[in-house]
This record gives sequence, C-alpha cells and structure tokens, in this order.
Amino acid sequence: MNEELKKWEVPPFDIDLILRYDKPGPRYTSYPTAPYFTENFKIEKYVNEVKKCGKDSDASLYFHLPFCESVCWFCGCNVHYTKDKTLTEKYIETMIKELKNLKGILNKEKKLVQVHFGGGTPTFIPAKLLKKLTEAIKEQFVFADDPEIGIELDPRALTDEHYSLFENGFFNRFSIGIQDFDEKVQRAVHRVQSEELTFSTFKKLRNLGAKSINVDLIYGLPHQTKESFKYTIDKIIELNPDRIAVFNFAYLPEMLPHQRAIKKEFLPSPIEKLRIFEMVIDSFTKNGYVFIGMDHFAKTDDELFIALENRTLFRNFQGYTTKGGADLFGIGATSIGQFGRCYSQNLRRVNDYIDSIENNKFSVFRGVVLTDDDLLRRDIILKLMCHFVLYKKEIEEKYNLNFDETFKDSLERLKPMEEDDLLSLKSDKIEVKPLGRLLVRNICMAFDAYLKRDKGERKFSRTV
Ligand code: SF4
Repeated sequence: MNEELKKWEVPPFDIDLILRYDKPGPRYTSYPTAPYFTENFKIEKYVNEVKKCGKDSDASLYFHLPFCESVCWFCGCNVHYTKDKTLTEKYIETMIKELKNLKGILNKEKKLVQVHFGGGTPTFIPAKLLKKLTEAIKEQFVFADDPEIGIELDPRALTDEHYSLFENGFFNRFSIGIQDFDEKVQRAVHRVQSEELTFSTFKKLRNLGAKSINVDLIYGLPHQTKESFKYTIDKIIELNPDRIAVFNFAYLPEMLPHQRAIKKEFLPSPIEKLRIFEMVIDSFTKNGYVFIGMDHFAKTDDELFIALENRTLFRNFQGYTTKGGADLFGIGATSIGQFGRCYSQNLRRVNDYIDSIENNKFSVFRGVVLTDDDLLRRDIILKLMCHFVLYKKEIEEKYNLNFDETFKDSLERLKPMEEDDLLSLKSDKIEVKPLGRLLVRNICMAFDAYLKRDKGERKFSRTV
C-alpha cells in the first residue's frame, strides 16, 4: 500500500476492546431509522411532499422486485417466495403505473441520475418484462449525464434472454450475490451456488463490457472459520470485482422466523467472527482495495473511494452511494424513498401493493417528515459514517449553532471512546480513527436522539 493510502489502513484488531462495544444498534441507512417511521404519513402527505421537490436535485429510482424461488435462510429482505411466474406480469404493469403516477406529480425538469433494480431476485422476472420496465423508465424520464444504472443478480436465476437484455447497454452496474464459496456453508444456509456458475456469470458480464461489478459476501454464517472463508476471499481476488460488500450476518430468529432453520451451535463465535473480518480487511487491502467503511471495499480508482477522499460519499437504503444529492423514490412493494425532507415506504405484501396502486395510485403506508433536529443529526451521523471526520464549523455555519454547547451530552458520551483510541475530539473537529471505523455505528449512536428516548424498545442487529 502506498504512503497516501496508509491513512485508510485498519490496524490489527484489539478483540477484547471491540467486543466491549458489541451491542444492538442501527446501521444508519437512514436517520431516523425505519422503526421510527410512522403510519400518520399517508398517501396524501406523500403526494404533497413529492410536489415540493424542486428541479435543483436530480432524481434516483429504486425498483423493488421481491420474488425469489427459494428462501436463503440468512436473508433479511422482504421477499415473496414462489416458483410461479404468473404474478410477475401484473407486478411489472403495476410498477409502470406507479412510475407514471409519480412522474405526474414530480417536477418535470428533474433528471434521472440513478436507477437500481433490487430484490428479491430481479432476474426472477422474465427478461421481456424487465425490458418493458426499462422502456417505461426511458419513456418517462430524461437522464442526467453519466447515470448509474444497476441491477442485483443471482447467477442461479439468469437466462440467455437476460444476458441479451444486458447487452443492449441500459444497465452499467451489476451486483452478484455470492456469500461464500464453501459448499458446507452454502448447504447450511439453503443457498447452493457452484463456483463454476459464479465464475462463468462474472466472465459473461465482463465480456458484455460491464463497467462495474460488485460482489456480495457474508461473514458470520454457520461453519465459517477464518481458514475456510480465506478460500472464498482468495477466489474473489481472482475474480477482480470493482467493489465488494462483506456483510456481517445479523442472526435475528425472533424477527425473521426462517432464520430458525440455521442451527445456532454452528455459528462462529463473536471472537471467530472478528478474526474472519480482520482477515478479510487484511487480504483485500493487500490486493488493491480500500476499506470504505462498515462493510464495503472499493478499488482506488473506483468512484466510491474517490468520493470517500473528497468527502462526497453518502449512505442510503442501498448502502454507500456517490449520488447522495438526488431525491430517491421507491417503486414497488416495500420500497423506501428518501426525498425532500422525508422518508416514505410502500406496503410490503405484493397483493396489497397491487391493490393499492389500482385503487389509490400510490401505496405508501408509512414514513416521516424530518424535523429541524432530525436534519441536523442526520447530517452529523452521515458525515461520521461516510467521511470519518466532522468539522464543527461546517455544522455551526449551516445550522447557526454552537456545536460544543448543543452537543455537550454527545461529546461526553464519546469521551470513553477517545480514551479507547477510537476517535479524537479536537476543538475544531471529531475524527474517527482507523479502529473506530469498525465501530462507527457506536460512535454515531451518541448523536441519535431516538435511541435515547426509546429505552431499547426497538430491535436492532448487533454492532459487532
Ligand atoms: S436470493 Fe437474495 S433476496 Fe432471495 S432469499 Fe436469497 S438472499 Fe434473500
């Protein structure tokens, strides 16, 4: 690693220290986090708030395609399990209706800078229907320069027709679900996907000229050890993706009943999990990737890393993004939007979603309009999560306040973390240190006003 990149290196883990900070906490893909959205936010409110969005910010669209053929036992997404494709046509037609209804109330000059197809398994949908959806997007919106258009792929659910669709150049970013190459682990989580299939998917996408390929892995799954997962990491380095996400498995069997099929006794211990993640960071950073934060790695010429260095990186429901200034609108069951000063979410069940679009034009069932205090705290949390430094003057000028006085309590709560060398509290800034980047959720929790009020009523995954 060259000298300039040294500041992004993570030191060897102090496992005892890290485990002291292991407690439930939000992942801060939003603030306030989704459990605090309220059902007082109805369709009428949604329409009013969308109409307020001006032309100055671009638009971003997230399409939730929730169908999967079988359940992966680790999954935390909102999924509609079926082998029957009959409903997919109706679902796509409904999404197109929702898209047109949204366009009808949106500022006409807004340009589209980002589109993401997530799931579920987007390629469960036959290619001809996905094409219909992409045509509708092109018909309704004018694109900004260099838009980012991504789709999540499950190699087990890809047909020649899907590859032909990708060939026409609409999508320029692909994200492949892998999780772990070890077959024993794959069987224990009910997701068997051969190494050959993953490699051939990767090769076909590269041959199509894919601009950027991301892969998703998970650590903390049953039977994983540092040694076994090293095999997966070495194979990923061989594949040479542009970005890598290595998610920490959140075992929440009370909230996600299908996770009860995973035998707890086969899960790696918290210490083993940390050893695995330490090996992951070490292996990727020795092979041309930078640890972006929480669970993401990117190459040094990737836009994500450039945005990290320029302090323009942002975080939303899809993870880290470089298009943070755009208003994000969710289309489809369960999808979440983040626009103007609010968040909104659509109904979760596919049939409820379809009925609601048919009868009410939109399907929003909950959301939140951010207060001034929410906006201020969201700004602070995002800066800490995405830039690892917070300049007090920037906040003071933007919100007309004295930082040290306003956040006296939060700064007090950060002092023990400073003693543990997770961050430094300077007169002009708060700086997250390399080890603190692993515990940045804990650092942000010091500024979260909802957690303070809530007294542990809401359930979150653990921070380590
Ligand atoms: S394919 Fe993806 S969305 Fe579907 S069950 Fe598996 S992890 Fe969940």
